[in-house]
Amino acid sequence: AIHSSFECFVFYIESTMLDMDLRLLLPSLIPSSQSVCVLVFYFVYLAVAGEILPGKVIRGVVLSDGSQLRYRCNGLFALSLLVAILGISAKLSVLSPLVVADRGLELLSATFIFCVLVTLVLYITGRSSSDKSSSLKPHVSGNLVHDWWFGIQLNPQFIGIDLKFFFVRAGMMGWLLINLSILAKCVQDGSLSQSMILYQIFCALYILDYFFHEEYMTSTWDIIAERLGFMLVFGDLLWIPFTFSIQAWMVAFAQQSRTNCSWYMVFRGANKQKHIFKKNPKTPIWGKPPVVVGGKLLASGYWGIARHCNYLGDLMLALSFSLPCGISSPVPYFYPIYLLILLIWRERRDEERCAEKYKEIWAEYLRLVPYRILPYVY
Ligand code: NDP
Repeated sequence: AIHSSFECFVFYIESTMLDMDLRLLLPSLIPSSQSVCVLVFYFVYLAVAGEILPGKVIRGVVLSDGSQLRYRCNGLFALSLLVAILGISAKLSVLSPLVVADRGLELLSATFIFCVLVTLVLYITGRSSSDKSSSLKPHVSGNLVHDWWFGIQLNPQFIGIDLKFFFVRAGMMGWLLINLSILAKCVQDGSLSQSMILYQIFCALYILDYFFHEEYMTSTWDIIAERLGFMLVFGDLLWIPFTFSIQAWMVAFAQQSRTNCSWYMVFRGANKQKHIFKKNPKTPIWGKPPVVVGGKLLASGYWGIARHCNYLGDLMLALSFSLPCGISSPVPYFYPIYLLILLIWRERRDEERCAEKYKEIWAEYLRLVPYRILPYVY
């Protein structure tokens, strides 16, 4: 039986393969006023919590004009408080914990509409900006679709809120909230399986870890190099929470085998090593002085094994999230497959940028560390 719109979504993905009826899906895509309210509440909460809750204030990387943005890394606090508020509201029957699970498709389409609107506003305000700072200087190619897709400004703000940092935070928290709502649904239906528990644990740890180390986010590609256009806003607000949680729906229906995720150390360790190296290039890596190329690039630790070991760890983790679903359907493998494509594409673009930025230093690094992601293979 199809009880909710999101179940309908999963059902749809599978059924399209079996030529089933599209009419089941379409009505669930029209956003109701409740789903708009859920989104508005969520964004307002995040805006207020991000501003008022205490958290370490981190200086971002030095931008080309010498300026540095400041980021208040209170995501873990904001997320814990939100989950506590939602938990208490559910206990007091003020709010149903199934609200996200039951309105998944409506929330998805409401978020999509929001992404389109907000990026049109970003396009218009970006184009009319005369600011010369690295964060706000408009980059206009003249091609409307290109400028709207890739964005015009590096770090646009709204009422003092850094939108890029805000959106990525909203996406990562949204992923956990969708998962928790599906979990609540399984508990209510009495269909909680071992696979679901494992999936929930893996994902919750991954997301909590992200916020525990939110500081490391401030030196990543999205924050330092990507302008804020539809691609990034859509990726953060819609793609991350709604597609990364597909396995939860699948696990809810397919009770299969499981695996574990020892790749976490590679993923987190590599990102940590780079972040620490950027702050202090003399910090020992795995107990030894770091191997540094041209005073700027780390060539030991994970960064001496492959030029993007962090991507390798992330990919293997993504795979481990999907394996509990078994191999009877390709749908749960959507996330790792998507991530594989995205990270290979991104790694190529990142290397182009680094080659231009570091010139002969980069060439020396390529010589020392010949593998891109997977040693001896790629
Ligand atoms: P990185 O964190 O690898 O950042 C790349 C930047 O790091 C480069 O542009 C360069 O910037 C610097 N750098 C590269 N090599 C070195 C080196 N050897 N020494 C010192 N600095 C170096 O990339 P991302 O921001 O793309 O990824 C961060 C994490 O986020 C990864 O673990 C990735 O898997 C994950 N991710 C997950 C996604 C998802 O959808 N789940 C999507 C994208 C990323 P600089 O100019 O500052 O030197």
